[in-house]
Amino acid sequence: MNDIKSLSSSKGIPMIYYDGYIYTLCRMTDEKMIFQCEDRDCKGRCQCHTNLKMNIFVQQPSNHSHVSDPNRYHTVKIKNDIKQRADTTDEKTSITIHDAMRTFSLNAVNLLPTDETLAKTIRRRRRPSILLDPSSRLPQSLRLTGRDESFAL
Ligand SMILES: [Zn+2]
Repeated sequence: MNDIKSLSSSKGIPMIYYDGYIYTLCRMTDEKMIFQCEDRDCKGRCQCHTNLKMNIFVQQPSNHSHVSDPNRYHTVKIKNDIKQRADTTDEKTSITIHDAMRTFSLNAVNLLPTDETLAKTIRRRRRPSILLDPSSRLPQSLRLTGRDESFAL
């Protein structure tokens, strides 16, 4: 049996993942949470017990007008994880992202938010390797002090 997996939107609105579909909270009463498919053109709906951990549908999901996407869960989950860790720790962003990546499902790895910013950060961190000049001495730029004076080499 599939579990109802609890997620949240970037704005902190409760979302759930179930059987290949993501739902966002539409309305909440004392007894139930009414979710609608994240695809606003779709009429997929379901109702859950207000305690999502109980894993109970008050009303089973209705039909969707599109195919399911099991990997959507991972893409939303990784964003949730990164956000939560950013909120609760002081660690470097790169560590947060790296750790989140480690737990990311390999099946969905090609769907990772292609993080151009991340790539740029990594490139910036990599310094060009130091090449010795033809006479095997340090390059000119490294033979100067901070005041542009030559070291006594
Ligand atoms: Zn749908």
